[in-house]
Amino acid sequence: MVKLKKQPEKKCEHTINLATVESEDGAFQCPKCGTSISPDDETEENYEIMDTKVVNDELVELDIACGKCGCLIKITGFQPSFDA
Ligand SMILES: [Zn+2]
Repeated sequence: MVKLKKQPEKKCEHTINLATVESEDGAFQCPKCGTSISPDDETEENYEIMDTKVVNDELVELDIACGKCGCLIKITGFQPSFDA
């Protein structure tokens, strides 16, 4: 009996707190492959949105997958600074 070990895609999970990201547009690099990811980039070329968590109409958490390595990245620390 051959045991097929189903190899799940390597789970890679990171959490990015935007409050600690020091770039104007909140862009950061994938902790794994270094792809530049900007939450403001709505083309989703570099990432794929997996899940969003909204509280009181405000985005509090964004779960994305790096478009290059597939690493899951949880983005927290959104600040309603655009609500000027
Ligand atoms: Zn990556």
